[in-house]
Amino acid sequence: MRRGPRVTTEPGRLIVLSGPSGVGKDTVLHELRTLEPRLRYSVSYTTRAPRPGEVDGVAYSFIDRDRFLAMAERGEFLEWAEVHGHLYGTSEARVKEALDRGEDIVLKIDVQGAAWIRPRVDGAIFIFLLPPSEEELRRRLVGRDTEDEASRELRFRNAVAELADGAAYDHRVVNDDVGRAAREILDIVRSRRARGTS
Ligand code: ADP
Ligand code: 5GP
Repeated sequence: MRRGPRVTTEPGRLIVLSGPSGVGKDTVLHELRTLEPRLRYSVSYTTRAPRPGEVDGVAYSFIDRDRFLAMAERGEFLEWAEVHGHLYGTSEARVKEALDRGEDIVLKIDVQGAAWIRPRVDGAIFIFLLPPSEEELRRRLVGRDTEDEASRELRFRNAVAELADGAAYDHRVVNDDVGRAAREILDIVRSRRARGTS
């Protein structure tokens, strides 16, 4: 009897990336996906307003509070949290689709969301992005110029408090240089995949 090639479908991995506002998560993620185009990104739902240039369905799915709460009520989020006064949530369906196809998928979520997922998803990889210093973090937040003064101050105060939460993550990566940080993250993901450990 002839047999076809054996096909093994390895499940994909959930990669949780957190870090204080302004540390460079979006910038590093962009670089990461340029280096590894097969990496999927979980587009979250949020009630915050789009920033200039942010496209609905690409940066986030922008929805109002009522719709968000209805989705939460129906159990459509893998996790959700209130961050800096807005609601943010990860679509369970979007994540499951990628994992079922054997694709690795990155969630860019805050420390509350990560803490929710940690005991519930086996084999997820938790990475925390750190700034080279608090002064540099403030410079980046001011330099990005997307928030008004009050919102920026809130984000900076929260950010400094959040730095301590990095201790709970498997890996802490310093975003000194975008390309270097992205390569370090890619190495972490590849070595976890190669080891096949959870
Ligand atoms: P986050 O997604 O964590 O809120 P962003 O990716 O929006 O942060 O980055 C915040 C600002 O810092 C942006 O202006 C970005 O260009 C800048 N930035 C990101 N990474 C670096 C880096 N390694 N060195 C210098 N500036 C950076
Ligand atoms: P921003 O408004 O700067 O895009 O994001 C603010 C914070 O919300 C960041 O810490 C980001 O990681 C977090 N965030 C974005 N999407 C989600 C999500 O789906 N769930 C949770 N828990 N946090 C999220």
